[in-house]
Amino acid sequence: MIDRREFGRLLGGMALVTSGVRAVTAPALATGKAKVVIVGGGAGGGTVARILKTEAPQLDVTIVEKREIYTSCFNSNHFFGGFRSFASLQHSYDGLRKLGITVANDIATDIDVSGKTVKLAGGGTLAFDQLVLSPGIGFNYSAIEGYSAEAAEILPHAWTAGSQTLLLMQQLEAMDDGGVVIMTVPGNPYRCPPGPYERACMIAHYLKMHKPKSKLVILDAKTTFSKQGAFEEAFDKYYSGIIDLNLTNEIDDFRVVRVDANTREVETASGLKLKGAVVNVIPVQTAGEIAIAAGCADAKGWCPIKPQNFASALVDGVYVLGDSAIANDMPKSAYSANSQGRVVAADILAALTGGEPGVARYRNTCWSLLAADDSIKIGADYTPGEKDGKPILVPHDPFVSQKGETAEMRRKNYAEGLAWYHAIISDAFNDNAALTQKG
Ligand SMILES: Cc1cc2nc3c(=O)[nH]c(=O)nc-3n(C[C@H](O)[C@H](O)[C@H](O)COP(=O)(O)OP(=O)(O)OC[C@H]3O[C@@H](n4cnc5c(N)ncnc54)[C@H](O)[C@@H]3O)c2cc1C
Repeated sequence: MIDRREFGRLLGGMALVTSGVRAVTAPALATGKAKVVIVGGGAGGGTVARILKTEAPQLDVTIVEKREIYTSCFNSNHFFGGFRSFASLQHSYDGLRKLGITVANDIATDIDVSGKTVKLAGGGTLAFDQLVLSPGIGFNYSAIEGYSAEAAEILPHAWTAGSQTLLLMQQLEAMDDGGVVIMTVPGNPYRCPPGPYERACMIAHYLKMHKPKSKLVILDAKTTFSKQGAFEEAFDKYYSGIIDLNLTNEIDDFRVVRVDANTREVETASGLKLKGAVVNVIPVQTAGEIAIAAGCADAKGWCPIKPQNFASALVDGVYVLGDSAIANDMPKSAYSANSQGRVVAADILAALTGGEPGVARYRNTCWSLLAADDSIKIGADYTPGEKDGKPILVPHDPFVSQKGETAEMRRKNYAEGLAWYHAIISDAFNDNAALTQKG
């Protein structure tokens, strides 16, 4: 949840910036409307836009977003377990438009950083004074033979939310009792490190309630994973006989290297072949395509950033935040994207006014639902620092749920996670309906 401490910090930072907006006669603001273009209206981009327009209404803020409705990946696993409706994950851009933000329902196809323009698929071109990229993730389909955007219509990833989420749920519902569901999990880094294991719990919960003879086989490219102790305890406690977790070890490499969409067969690096009734392939990921096209990504496909403000480390004059950024130990989560968005907004306001942005502080917390009223969490704070002469984000005060915690603590975690969902939707989409919406 965005707690009092964090709100306090934000307000502190923004107060500093706001006084800058009012006090300084800055060229960009004084000579007319400075133009900020934000590509990607998700957890990161929405946050930047909302804060900028709220703090400096004279700014011309445009979001370029390809989807008319945002369906949040965060909490989408709850849908598979029956703990949240699909509609409750969907949010319009009306709240941001009401603030005076322009939301262009279009696709950014090209960026000219020196000419300061963004080209749109619809034929338009947008000029900017400040550019922010928060386009989420792209998929590296070539990492698994036989997987492609077309194959994903049969073997859904559901790692961007929307039609893929519905497709996976429809397949689970259509499956016979006794069917095998296969989930393939990539190596790090990827969007939401604990996401696959929360999904495993939620799919297993669905199977336990509706198709108890069925199984969920996880084929994982990794040897360890986020919140592992508490997750494995939940697999035993709630889903024994349903979840079959296969982590890569010295003998078997469970990294999936080939899939066949016609037969729903998957093959691992160590030669294991398995057929599923439903196959959920979580692909190898990269930064969003447009961030790569803008030259902001390194050879591994992610965008290195400057820890003090999430400006690209590779291309001057561009901010890259959210999942596209590679930010040391800071995980790819909506909480992180929202926290980074606050810093980026403060930095832009400072740049446009000549004010001081203040010292950046970031935070992440990620809750995972195991079963009814039983959630675990992991998190840390992060500040800019240095290691071996290189700028990095240094983690502070990390915490992670442990095995054997009380039911009361787990219930409290669940309530915190729900409150956080409402808070981030309000923060990134100016959608306060979420505050009164239940589940
Ligand atoms: C199953 C699952 C569960 C998760 N659970 C949690 C959780 O519990 N807590 C948590 O904090 N995080 C969670 N996450 C992670 C979270 O969803 C992401 O980290 C977060 O959405 C990242 O924000 P972002 O702004 O980088 O990207 P997004 O929120 O994905 O926003 C990117 C936006 O950019 C748009 N876009 C991309 N390219 C273009 C273009 N060229 N032109 C126009 N628009 C474009 C996309 O349509 C999208 O709307 C989960 C993820 C998954 C998959």
